Amino acid sequence: MITVLAGGVGAARFLEGLRLTWPEDDITVISNVGDDLEVYGVHVSPDIDIVLYSLAGMVDRRGWGVMNDTFHFIDALERFGYETWFRLGDRDYATSVFRSRRLAEGASLSAVSAEIARSLGVRLRLLPITDDPLRTMVSTTAGMLEFQDYFVRRRTQDEVLKIAFAGEKRAKPAPGVLDAIAEADAVILAPSNPLVSIGPILAVSGVRAALRETRARIAAISPIIRGGVVKGPADRMMRSLGLEASALQVARLYEDFLDVFVLDVADAELADGVAELKIQPVVTETIMSGLEEKRRLAAATVRGLGLALP
Ligand code: GDP
Repeated sequence: MITVLAGGVGAARFLEGLRLTWPEDDITVISNVGDDLEVYGVHVSPDIDIVLYSLAGMVDRRGWGVMNDTFHFIDALERFGYETWFRLGDRDYATSVFRSRRLAEGASLSAVSAEIARSLGVRLRLLPITDDPLRTMVSTTAGMLEFQDYFVRRRTQDEVLKIAFAGEKRAKPAPGVLDAIAEADAVILAPSNPLVSIGPILAVSGVRAALRETRARIAAISPIIRGGVVKGPADRMMRSLGLEASALQVARLYEDFLDVFVLDVADAELADGVAELKIQPVVTETIMSGLEEKRRLAAATVRGLGLALP
């Protein structure tokens, strides 16, 4: 089994490639829930949905939401004076209505996520990192913001001073999470924002220790290329927190448990620095523009981990 720690878009693209390389039934995804929010009376899990819609072949080209979705519901809400900056499409809303109803009935987020995956025909196993509330909070020059407030409403314009995870102390790993790390043949950290997508996963008690202790080899793919990003605010966030925005810095964040680090050909000169951390560098093309690029990146990662491709 390969276990993948995953955020949203970068992870979804990588997983589309990985399942062409490794049997889908033998992949477990551990998803970030720090971006979750309650909005319009429903519980939305953006990272889980991005991954599931992508694997179901129904994600919109922009990377989130359902392809060709309509926005009648949210437009109608506007009439009542609702703030509608979180654009939830009609079909997307249905997913969250189902999720919220099941949660209200007492089902866990892991159980509901499995039900949604099944209904979409997705075969790999997806586990939220925790069934407990865990919310990424961004302290900025404009005050303390919930993640989606920072990310969507204020379009990441504010300088980030600190990142915290509300609920971190009480959140327990969801059933199966620690076993999926301990029993994996390999663990892969997808190319996701290290601070707000992988960060909340590593913050849950026992997860970082499980990564240090597992016998599985662990690889990460850099989401930072030449000091910049493919999308999102990861590079700006790193700089405003006093970190260097570089692939090498991402490797340092995972140094205590990482065996293999996949970095872009454009960053080949950083490979020696990675090796000095006692992490094996793999230099390859990491921009996943099409399905073939996704498959090649996954295959290079699996080979770097020393697993034989089936
Ligand atoms: P978000 O929650 O949707 O922003 O998703 P993630 O945290 O999974 O992804 C954001 C990170 O993924 C950004 O830092 C991007 O640079 C990175 N990313 C997205 N697409 C690619 C890609 O094709 N290749 C690489 N190497 N990184 C990518």
